[in-house]
Amino acid sequence: MDLASTRSDDLAEDLSRFTDPLTGLGNRRRLIDKILRLVDERAMDPAPFTVGIMNIDGFKPINDLFGHAAGDEILSQIAHRLKSCLPEGATCARLNGDEFGFLLPLVFDKENATRLGKVLAEVCSAPYDLGDRNVRLSSSFGFSIYPFAGEDENALLESADTALYRSKRRGRNQITVYSEEIADQIKRGTQIEQALRRAITADEVEVHFQPIIDLSTNIPVGFEGLARWTDRELGFVSPGAFIPLAEERGFIDSLTEALLKKAVKVAQTWPEGMFLSFNLSSAQLVDPSTASSIIQILHRSGIDSRAVEMEITETAMMTDPDTANKIMNDLRAAGVGISLDDFGTGQSSLGRLRDFAFDKVKIDRAFVSKITDDRPTEHIVKAILTMCHGLDLLAVAEGIETEEQADMLRDMGCAYGQGYLFGKAQNAKDTCMYLETLGILPRGSSLNFQY
Ligand code: C2E
Ligand code: CA
Ligand code: CA
Repeated sequence: MDLASTRSDDLAEDLSRFTDPLTGLGNRRRLIDKILRLVDERAMDPAPFTVGIMNIDGFKPINDLFGHAAGDEILSQIAHRLKSCLPEGATCARLNGDEFGFLLPLVFDKENATRLGKVLAEVCSAPYDLGDRNVRLSSSFGFSIYPFAGEDENALLESADTALYRSKRRGRNQITVYSEEIADQIKRGTQIEQALRRAITADEVEVHFQPIIDLSTNIPVGFEGLARWTDRELGFVSPGAFIPLAEERGFIDSLTEALLKKAVKVAQTWPEGMFLSFNLSSAQLVDPSTASSIIQILHRSGIDSRAVEMEITETAMMTDPDTANKIMNDLRAAGVGISLDDFGTGQSSLGRLRDFAFDKVKIDRAFVSKITDDRPTEHIVKAILTMCHGLDLLAVAEGIETEEQADMLRDMGCAYGQGYLFGKAQNAKDTCMYLETLGILPRGSSLNFQY
Protein backbone atom coordinates (compact mmCIF):
# COMPACT_ATOMS: atom_id res chain seq x y z
CA MET A 1 0.00 0.00 0.00
CA ASP A 2 1.53 3.30 -0.93
CA LEU A 3 1.80 6.08 1.55
CA ALA A 4 0.21 8.80 -0.60
CA SER A 5 -3.06 6.92 -1.11
CA THR A 6 -3.36 6.15 2.62
CA ARG A 7 -2.89 9.83 3.32
CA SER A 8 -5.61 10.88 0.90
CA ASP A 9 -7.98 8.20 2.29
CA ASP A 10 -7.38 9.57 5.77
CA LEU A 11 -8.01 13.04 4.53
CA ALA A 12 -11.27 12.03 2.85
CA GLU A 13 -12.40 10.26 5.99
CA ASP A 14 -11.45 13.28 8.07
CA LEU A 15 -13.35 15.53 5.75
CA SER A 16 -16.50 13.44 5.93
CA ARG A 17 -16.30 13.33 9.73
CA PHE A 18 -16.32 17.12 9.73
CA THR A 19 -18.76 17.77 6.90
CA ASP A 20 -22.53 17.97 6.70
CA PRO A 21 -23.41 15.84 3.66
CA LEU A 22 -26.58 17.76 2.75
CA THR A 23 -25.23 21.29 2.60
CA GLY A 24 -21.51 20.70 2.23
CA LEU A 25 -20.94 23.01 5.22
CA GLY A 26 -18.92 21.89 8.20
CA ASN A 27 -20.83 20.08 10.94
CA ARG A 28 -20.96 20.65 14.71
CA ARG A 29 -17.66 18.83 15.15
CA ARG A 30 -16.00 21.20 12.66
CA LEU A 31 -17.37 24.26 14.45
CA ILE A 32 -16.24 23.00 17.85
CA ASP A 33 -12.79 22.21 16.46
CA LYS A 34 -12.51 25.71 15.00
CA ILE A 35 -13.60 27.32 18.28
CA LEU A 36 -11.08 25.23 20.22
CA ARG A 37 -8.28 26.41 17.96
CA LEU A 38 -9.33 30.03 18.19
CA VAL A 39 -9.56 29.84 21.98
CA ASP A 40 -5.98 28.51 21.96
CA GLU A 41 -4.82 31.34 19.74
CA ARG A 42 -6.59 34.01 21.75
CA ALA A 43 -5.06 32.75 24.97
CA MET A 44 -1.96 34.69 23.88
CA ASP A 45 -3.83 37.64 22.45
CA PRO A 46 -7.08 37.92 24.38
CA ALA A 47 -9.15 39.74 21.75
CA PRO A 48 -12.85 38.90 21.78
CA PHE A 49 -14.58 36.86 19.08
CA THR A 50 -18.17 35.74 18.53
CA VAL A 51 -20.03 32.45 18.32
CA GLY A 52 -23.56 32.39 16.88
CA ILE A 53 -26.44 29.99 16.43
CA MET A 54 -29.29 30.50 14.01
CA ASN A 55 -32.51 28.54 14.07
CA ILE A 56 -35.15 28.74 11.34
CA ASP A 57 -38.57 29.70 12.68
CA GLY A 58 -41.39 27.26 11.96
CA PHE A 59 -39.32 24.86 9.87
CA LYS A 60 -41.03 21.68 10.96
CA PRO A 61 -44.34 22.42 9.17
CA ILE A 62 -42.36 22.82 5.93
CA ASN A 63 -41.26 19.20 6.11
CA ASP A 64 -44.76 18.13 7.09
CA LEU A 65 -46.53 20.17 4.42
CA PHE A 66 -44.19 20.02 1.45
CA GLY A 67 -42.14 16.90 2.14
CA HIS A 68 -38.54 16.29 3.13
CA ALA A 69 -37.16 17.00 -0.32
CA ALA A 70 -38.50 20.55 -0.08
CA GLY A 71 -37.06 20.87 3.44
CA ASP A 72 -33.65 19.70 2.17
CA GLU A 73 -33.81 22.13 -0.73
CA ILE A 74 -34.45 25.05 1.65
CA LEU A 75 -31.60 24.01 3.95
CA SER A 76 -29.22 23.88 0.98
CA GLN A 77 -30.36 27.29 -0.20
CA ILE A 78 -29.89 28.71 3.30
CA ALA A 79 -26.36 27.27 3.51
CA HIS A 80 -25.58 28.92 0.22
CA ARG A 81 -26.96 32.30 1.31
CA LEU A 82 -25.17 32.22 4.66
CA LYS A 83 -21.84 31.36 3.07
CA SER A 84 -22.17 34.17 0.59
CA CYS A 85 -22.62 36.89 3.18
CA LEU A 86 -20.39 35.87 6.09
CA PRO A 87 -17.26 37.98 6.53
CA GLU A 88 -13.73 36.77 5.70
CA GLY A 89 -12.36 34.18 8.05
CA ALA A 90 -15.79 33.21 9.43
CA THR A 91 -16.92 29.59 9.73
CA CYS A 92 -20.46 28.47 9.07
CA ALA A 93 -21.65 25.00 10.07
CA ARG A 94 -24.89 23.08 10.11
CA LEU A 95 -25.34 21.96 13.70
CA ASN A 96 -28.42 19.82 13.24
CA GLY A 97 -31.85 19.90 11.58
CA ASP A 98 -32.68 23.53 11.00
CA GLU A 99 -29.87 24.96 13.12
CA PHE A 100 -26.71 26.63 11.85
CA GLY A 101 -23.67 27.78 13.81
CA PHE A 102 -21.09 30.49 13.20
CA LEU A 103 -17.65 31.34 14.38
CA LEU A 104 -16.83 35.00 13.75
CA PRO A 105 -13.20 35.73 14.66
CA LEU A 106 -13.45 39.41 13.74
CA VAL A 107 -16.72 40.29 15.44
CA PHE A 108 -15.72 41.77 18.76
CA ASP A 109 -18.84 43.29 20.31
CA LYS A 110 -22.60 43.28 20.66
CA GLU A 111 -23.21 46.03 18.09
CA ASN A 112 -21.33 44.21 15.36
CA ALA A 113 -22.84 40.84 16.24
CA THR A 114 -26.33 42.38 16.06
CA ARG A 115 -25.54 44.10 12.79
CA LEU A 116 -24.31 40.87 11.22
CA GLY A 117 -27.33 39.02 12.63
CA LYS A 118 -29.59 41.53 10.88
CA VAL A 119 -27.83 40.97 7.56
CA LEU A 120 -28.10 37.18 7.89
CA ALA A 121 -31.76 37.42 8.95
CA GLU A 122 -32.53 39.66 6.00
CA VAL A 123 -30.80 37.39 3.51
CA CYS A 124 -32.55 34.30 4.85
CA SER A 125 -35.98 35.97 4.83
CA ALA A 126 -36.10 36.28 1.02
CA PRO A 127 -38.45 33.73 -0.61
CA TYR A 128 -37.24 30.16 -1.27
CA ASP A 129 -37.88 28.77 -4.69
CA LEU A 130 -39.36 25.27 -4.51
CA GLY A 131 -40.08 24.92 -8.20
CA ASP A 132 -43.85 25.30 -8.21
CA ARG A 133 -44.07 27.60 -5.19
CA ASN A 134 -42.21 30.10 -3.06
CA VAL A 135 -41.85 29.92 0.70
CA ARG A 136 -40.81 32.65 3.14
CA LEU A 137 -39.24 31.94 6.53
CA SER A 138 -37.85 34.01 9.35
CA SER A 139 -35.06 32.95 11.67
CA SER A 140 -33.92 33.58 15.24
CA PHE A 141 -30.36 34.25 16.36
CA GLY A 142 -28.31 33.93 19.52
CA PHE A 143 -24.75 35.20 19.85
CA SER A 144 -22.13 34.86 22.57
CA ILE A 145 -18.92 36.84 22.81
CA TYR A 146 -15.63 35.39 24.07
CA PRO A 147 -14.47 35.59 26.83
CA PHE A 148 -17.43 37.33 28.60
CA ALA A 149 -20.01 34.69 27.67
CA GLY A 150 -17.68 31.72 28.10
CA GLU A 151 -14.04 30.75 27.98
CA ASP A 152 -14.33 27.46 26.14
CA GLU A 153 -16.30 25.98 23.25
CA ASN A 154 -18.97 24.41 25.44
CA ALA A 155 -19.66 27.52 27.48
CA LEU A 156 -19.75 29.69 24.35
CA LEU A 157 -22.18 27.41 22.51
CA GLU A 158 -24.32 27.11 25.62
CA SER A 159 -24.49 30.89 26.04
CA ALA A 160 -25.34 31.33 22.35
CA ASP A 161 -28.07 28.76 22.83
CA THR A 162 -29.44 30.63 25.87
CA ALA A 163 -29.51 33.82 23.78
CA LEU A 164 -31.27 31.94 20.96
CA TYR A 165 -33.85 30.62 23.41
CA ARG A 166 -34.53 34.19 24.46
CA SER A 167 -34.96 35.25 20.80
CA LYS A 168 -37.53 32.51 20.32
CA ARG A 169 -39.31 33.53 23.52
CA ARG A 170 -39.44 37.12 22.40
CA GLY A 171 -41.54 36.09 19.46
CA ARG A 172 -39.00 34.76 16.95
CA ASN A 173 -37.35 36.67 14.13
CA GLN A 174 -35.15 38.21 16.84
CA ILE A 175 -31.47 38.65 17.52
CA THR A 176 -30.09 38.33 21.05
CA VAL A 177 -26.53 38.70 22.28
CA TYR A 178 -25.88 36.84 25.54
CA SER A 179 -25.35 38.85 28.73
CA GLU A 180 -25.47 38.00 32.44
CA GLU A 181 -28.62 40.05 32.64
CA ILE A 182 -30.37 37.98 30.01
CA ALA A 183 -29.32 34.75 31.69
CA ASP A 184 -30.69 36.09 35.02
CA GLN A 185 -33.94 37.14 33.40
CA ILE A 186 -34.41 33.72 31.84
CA LYS A 187 -33.63 32.07 35.16
CA ARG A 188 -36.09 34.31 37.00
CA GLY A 189 -38.72 33.73 34.31
CA THR A 190 -38.38 29.98 34.76
CA GLN A 191 -38.59 30.36 38.55
CA ILE A 192 -41.78 32.42 38.25
CA GLU A 193 -43.20 30.01 35.70
CA GLN A 194 -42.72 27.01 37.99
CA ALA A 195 -44.13 28.82 41.01
CA LEU A 196 -47.09 30.13 39.00
CA ARG A 197 -47.94 26.73 37.52
CA ARG A 198 -47.93 25.36 41.04
CA ALA A 199 -50.04 28.25 42.33
CA ILE A 200 -52.65 27.72 39.60
CA THR A 201 -52.94 24.04 40.48
CA ALA A 202 -53.15 24.89 44.18
CA ASP A 203 -55.74 27.58 43.40
CA GLU A 204 -53.65 30.34 44.96
CA VAL A 205 -54.03 33.03 42.31
CA GLU A 206 -56.75 35.45 43.37
CA VAL A 207 -58.97 38.01 41.72
CA HIS A 208 -59.42 41.45 43.23
CA PHE A 209 -62.05 43.95 42.17
CA GLN A 210 -61.64 47.63 41.36
CA PRO A 211 -64.83 49.74 41.26
CA ILE A 212 -65.98 51.45 38.08
CA ILE A 213 -67.98 54.55 38.97
CA ASP A 214 -70.81 56.39 37.26
CA LEU A 215 -69.28 59.88 37.24
CA SER A 216 -72.65 61.63 37.28
CA THR A 217 -73.78 59.95 40.52
CA ASN A 218 -70.48 58.75 42.05
CA ILE A 219 -72.05 55.33 42.50
CA PRO A 220 -70.25 52.13 41.44
CA VAL A 221 -71.81 50.38 38.45
CA GLY A 222 -69.41 47.46 38.20
CA PHE A 223 -65.92 46.17 38.94
CA GLU A 224 -62.87 45.21 36.93
CA GLY A 225 -61.42 41.86 37.99
CA LEU A 226 -57.63 42.01 38.38
CA ALA A 227 -55.38 39.02 39.01
CA ARG A 228 -53.40 39.00 42.29
CA TRP A 229 -50.72 36.55 43.29
CA THR A 230 -48.38 36.41 46.26
CA ASP A 231 -45.93 33.51 46.23
CA ARG A 232 -44.47 32.15 49.46
CA GLU A 233 -40.92 32.64 48.23
CA LEU A 234 -41.12 35.24 45.48
CA GLY A 235 -43.51 37.49 47.40
CA PHE A 236 -45.97 39.71 45.54
CA VAL A 237 -45.65 39.33 41.78
CA SER A 238 -47.36 41.97 39.65
CA PRO A 239 -49.85 40.80 37.00
CA GLY A 240 -47.92 43.03 34.62
CA ALA A 241 -45.12 40.47 35.04
CA PHE A 242 -46.90 37.13 35.37
CA ILE A 243 -49.70 37.55 32.82
CA PRO A 244 -47.28 38.08 29.89
CA LEU A 245 -45.21 35.17 31.18
CA ALA A 246 -48.23 32.85 31.24
CA GLU A 247 -49.06 34.02 27.71
CA GLU A 248 -45.55 33.46 26.47
CA ARG A 249 -45.23 30.02 28.00
CA GLY A 250 -48.61 28.85 26.86
CA PHE A 251 -50.70 28.45 30.02
CA ILE A 252 -52.71 31.66 30.04
CA ASP A 253 -55.83 29.64 29.16
CA SER A 254 -55.82 27.65 32.36
CA LEU A 255 -55.03 30.78 34.40
CA THR A 256 -57.82 32.83 32.82
CA GLU A 257 -60.26 30.00 33.21
CA ALA A 258 -59.52 29.62 36.92
CA LEU A 259 -59.71 33.39 37.49
CA LEU A 260 -62.89 33.89 35.49
CA LYS A 261 -64.62 31.13 37.43
CA LYS A 262 -63.65 32.79 40.71
CA ALA A 263 -64.59 36.28 39.53
CA VAL A 264 -67.99 35.17 38.27
CA LYS A 265 -68.75 33.46 41.56
CA VAL A 266 -68.06 36.71 43.41
CA ALA A 267 -69.96 38.83 40.88
CA GLN A 268 -73.04 36.73 41.54
CA THR A 269 -73.16 38.14 45.08
CA TRP A 270 -73.43 41.71 43.78
CA PRO A 271 -76.76 43.47 43.31
CA GLU A 272 -78.52 43.14 39.98
CA GLY A 273 -77.37 45.57 37.32
CA MET A 274 -73.77 45.60 38.47
CA PHE A 275 -71.29 44.23 35.95
CA LEU A 276 -68.00 42.36 36.03
CA SER A 277 -65.35 43.50 33.59
CA PHE A 278 -62.67 40.91 32.91
CA ASN A 279 -59.40 41.12 30.94
CA LEU A 280 -58.87 38.82 28.01
CA SER A 281 -55.26 38.25 27.11
CA SER A 282 -53.80 38.70 23.65
CA ALA A 283 -52.93 35.01 23.33
CA GLN A 284 -56.60 34.14 23.76
CA LEU A 285 -57.71 36.40 20.94
CA VAL A 286 -55.94 34.24 18.37
CA ASP A 287 -57.53 31.05 19.68
CA PRO A 288 -60.90 30.33 18.05
CA SER A 289 -62.06 28.20 21.01
CA THR A 290 -61.89 31.17 23.43
CA ALA A 291 -65.48 32.36 23.00
CA SER A 292 -67.02 28.94 23.58
CA SER A 293 -64.93 28.25 26.68
CA ILE A 294 -65.89 31.62 28.19
CA ILE A 295 -69.55 31.15 27.37
CA GLN A 296 -69.43 27.69 28.90
CA ILE A 297 -67.97 29.02 32.16
CA LEU A 298 -70.68 31.69 32.32
CA HIS A 299 -73.48 29.22 31.58
CA ARG A 300 -72.25 26.71 34.13
CA SER A 301 -72.08 29.39 36.83
CA GLY A 302 -75.60 30.52 36.10
CA ILE A 303 -74.63 34.21 35.90
CA ASP A 304 -76.54 36.41 33.46
CA SER A 305 -73.98 36.91 30.68
CA ARG A 306 -75.23 40.46 30.23
CA ALA A 307 -73.59 41.23 33.57
CA VAL A 308 -70.18 40.30 32.15
CA GLU A 309 -67.86 42.29 29.90
CA MET A 310 -64.55 41.34 28.36
CA GLU A 311 -61.75 43.89 28.03
CA ILE A 312 -59.46 43.55 25.04
CA THR A 313 -56.69 45.71 23.67
CA GLU A 314 -56.22 46.82 20.10
CA THR A 315 -52.71 45.43 19.89
CA ALA A 316 -54.07 42.02 20.88
CA MET A 317 -56.78 42.21 18.24
CA MET A 318 -54.42 43.04 15.44
CA THR A 319 -52.38 39.80 15.51
CA ASP A 320 -55.27 37.96 13.91
CA PRO A 321 -58.17 40.39 13.31
CA ASP A 322 -60.45 37.78 11.72
CA THR A 323 -60.26 35.40 14.67
CA ALA A 324 -60.54 38.29 17.14
CA ASN A 325 -63.61 39.56 15.33
CA LYS A 326 -65.22 36.13 15.38
CA ILE A 327 -64.56 35.74 19.11
CA MET A 328 -66.04 39.18 19.79
CA ASN A 329 -69.12 38.49 17.70
CA ASP A 330 -69.71 35.11 19.37
CA LEU A 331 -69.39 36.71 22.81
CA ARG A 332 -71.71 39.56 21.92
CA ALA A 333 -74.26 37.13 20.50
CA ALA A 334 -74.23 35.43 23.92
CA GLY A 335 -74.90 38.77 25.61
CA VAL A 336 -71.34 39.47 26.84
CA GLY A 337 -70.20 43.10 26.47
CA ILE A 338 -66.88 44.07 24.89
CA SER A 339 -64.68 46.94 26.10
CA LEU A 340 -61.71 48.30 24.22
CA ASP A 341 -58.99 48.53 26.90
CA ASP A 342 -56.06 50.97 27.10
CA PHE A 343 -57.46 53.14 24.32
CA GLY A 344 -54.99 55.69 23.04
CA THR A 345 -51.90 53.56 23.57
CA GLY A 346 -50.51 51.16 21.01
CA GLN A 347 -51.83 51.31 17.49
CA SER A 348 -55.11 53.15 18.08
CA SER A 349 -57.13 53.49 14.96
CA LEU A 350 -60.42 55.28 14.66
CA GLY A 351 -61.50 52.95 11.87
CA ARG A 352 -61.23 50.05 14.30
CA LEU A 353 -63.85 51.62 16.53
CA ARG A 354 -66.25 51.56 13.62
CA ASP A 355 -65.32 48.16 12.15
CA PHE A 356 -65.38 46.19 15.38
CA ALA A 357 -68.37 45.99 17.64
CA PHE A 358 -67.50 47.48 21.04
CA ASP A 359 -69.77 48.53 23.86
CA LYS A 360 -67.27 50.56 25.85
CA VAL A 361 -63.97 52.31 25.37
CA LYS A 362 -61.53 52.60 28.27
CA ILE A 363 -59.39 55.70 27.96
CA ASP A 364 -55.87 54.90 29.08
CA ARG A 365 -54.41 56.26 32.30
CA ALA A 366 -51.62 57.94 30.30
CA PHE A 367 -54.19 60.54 29.13
CA VAL A 368 -56.09 60.85 32.38
CA SER A 369 -52.94 61.53 34.40
CA LYS A 370 -52.05 64.52 32.19
CA ILE A 371 -55.49 65.87 31.53
CA THR A 372 -55.41 68.70 34.08
CA ASP A 373 -52.06 70.19 33.13
CA ASP A 374 -51.54 69.47 29.47
CA ARG A 375 -53.78 71.28 26.97
CA PRO A 376 -53.13 68.96 24.01
CA THR A 377 -54.06 65.95 26.16
CA GLU A 378 -57.23 67.71 27.24
CA HIS A 379 -58.18 68.19 23.58
CA ILE A 380 -57.39 64.58 22.69
CA VAL A 381 -59.61 63.32 25.49
CA LYS A 382 -62.39 65.69 24.40
CA ALA A 383 -62.09 64.37 20.85
CA ILE A 384 -62.17 60.75 22.02
CA LEU A 385 -65.29 61.45 24.06
CA THR A 386 -67.05 63.21 21.18
CA MET A 387 -66.24 60.28 18.96
CA CYS A 388 -67.50 57.76 21.51
CA HIS A 389 -70.68 59.74 21.82
CA GLY A 390 -71.20 59.73 18.04
CA LEU A 391 -70.57 55.99 17.83
CA ASP A 392 -72.84 55.21 20.77
CA LEU A 393 -70.02 53.88 22.90
CA LEU A 394 -69.77 54.40 26.65
CA ALA A 395 -66.44 55.80 27.83
CA VAL A 396 -64.58 54.77 30.98
CA ALA A 397 -61.64 56.93 32.08
CA GLU A 398 -58.93 54.79 33.73
CA GLY A 399 -56.51 55.77 36.48
CA ILE A 400 -58.38 58.74 37.98
CA GLU A 401 -56.42 59.80 41.06
CA THR A 402 -57.66 63.31 41.86
CA GLU A 403 -61.00 65.10 42.27
CA GLU A 404 -59.81 67.61 39.72
CA GLN A 405 -59.39 64.91 37.07
CA ALA A 406 -62.79 63.44 37.91
CA ASP A 407 -64.48 66.87 37.69
CA MET A 408 -62.94 67.62 34.36
CA LEU A 409 -63.90 64.25 32.87
CA ARG A 410 -67.43 64.59 34.24
CA ASP A 411 -67.73 68.04 32.64
CA MET A 412 -66.52 66.63 29.35
CA GLY A 413 -69.32 64.08 29.41
CA CYS A 414 -67.33 60.97 30.28
CA ALA A 415 -69.82 58.43 31.62
CA TYR A 416 -67.66 56.24 33.84
CA GLY A 417 -64.42 56.46 35.79
CA GLN A 418 -62.04 54.09 37.53
CA GLY A 419 -58.98 54.81 39.63
CA TYR A 420 -57.38 55.10 43.05
CA LEU A 421 -59.58 58.15 43.80
CA PHE A 422 -62.57 55.79 44.01
CA GLY A 423 -60.71 52.75 45.23
CA LYS A 424 -57.97 50.26 44.52
CA ALA A 425 -58.70 46.65 43.65
CA GLN A 426 -59.64 44.69 46.77
CA ASN A 427 -60.58 41.13 47.57
CA ALA A 428 -64.10 39.71 47.38
CA LYS A 429 -64.94 40.24 51.03
CA ASP A 430 -63.69 43.84 51.19
CA THR A 431 -65.56 44.54 47.96
CA CYS A 432 -68.72 43.28 49.58
CA MET A 433 -68.08 45.45 52.66
CA TYR A 434 -67.51 48.43 50.40
CA LEU A 435 -70.94 47.86 48.83
CA GLU A 436 -72.41 47.58 52.34
CA THR A 437 -70.93 50.91 53.41
CA LEU A 438 -72.44 52.56 50.37
CA GLY A 439 -75.81 51.05 51.25
CA ILE A 440 -75.87 49.10 47.99
CA LEU A 441 -75.83 45.74 49.78
CA PRO A 442 -77.58 45.13 53.11
CA ARG A 443 -75.37 45.22 56.23
CA GLY A 444 -73.96 41.83 57.19
CA SER A 445 -73.80 40.53 53.62
CA SER A 446 -70.06 40.05 53.92
CA LEU A 447 -70.24 38.07 57.17
CA ASN A 448 -70.38 34.61 55.67
CA PHE A 449 -67.92 35.28 52.91
CA GLN A 450 -65.61 32.30 52.42
CA TYR A 451 -63.39 33.75 49.71
P1 C2E B 1 -55.17 47.08 32.96
O1 C2E B 1 -56.16 46.12 32.37
O2 C2E B 1 -55.00 48.36 32.25
O3 C2E B 1 -55.61 47.30 34.46
C1 C2E B 1 -55.53 48.53 35.12
C2 C2E B 1 -54.28 48.63 35.93
O4 C2E B 1 -54.14 49.95 36.43
C3 C2E B 1 -54.32 47.74 37.17
O5 C2E B 1 -52.99 47.32 37.43
C4 C2E B 1 -54.81 48.69 38.25
O6 C2E B 1 -54.48 48.31 39.55
C5 C2E B 1 -54.08 49.95 37.85
N1 C2E B 1 -54.75 51.16 38.31
C6 C2E B 1 -56.08 51.36 38.48
N2 C2E B 1 -56.33 52.60 38.91
C7 C2E B 1 -55.14 53.22 39.02
C8 C2E B 1 -54.74 54.54 39.43
O7 C2E B 1 -55.54 55.39 39.78
N3 C2E B 1 -53.41 54.82 39.39
C9 C2E B 1 -52.50 53.90 39.03
N4 C2E B 1 -51.22 54.23 39.03
N5 C2E B 1 -52.84 52.63 38.62
C10 C2E B 1 -54.13 52.32 38.63
P2 C2E B 1 -52.62 45.83 37.75
O8 C2E B 1 -53.66 45.18 38.57
O9 C2E B 1 -51.21 45.83 38.23
O10 C2E B 1 -52.69 45.13 36.33
C11 C2E B 1 -51.78 45.42 35.33
C12 C2E B 1 -52.20 44.81 34.03
O11 C2E B 1 -52.12 43.38 34.10
C13 C2E B 1 -53.64 45.10 33.66
O12 C2E B 1 -53.72 46.36 33.06
C14 C2E B 1 -53.93 43.99 32.69
O13 C2E B 1 -53.41 44.27 31.42
C15 C2E B 1 -53.14 42.84 33.28
N6 C2E B 1 -54.03 41.99 34.09
C16 C2E B 1 -54.38 42.07 35.40
N7 C2E B 1 -55.20 41.07 35.75
C17 C2E B 1 -55.41 40.35 34.63
C18 C2E B 1 -56.18 39.15 34.35
O14 C2E B 1 -56.88 38.56 35.20
N8 C2E B 1 -56.12 38.68 33.08
C19 C2E B 1 -55.38 39.30 32.10
N9 C2E B 1 -55.37 38.77 30.87
N10 C2E B 1 -54.66 40.40 32.34
C20 C2E B 1 -54.68 40.93 33.59
CA1 CA C 1 -58.18 46.23 31.84
CA1 CA D 1 -56.54 49.42 30.99
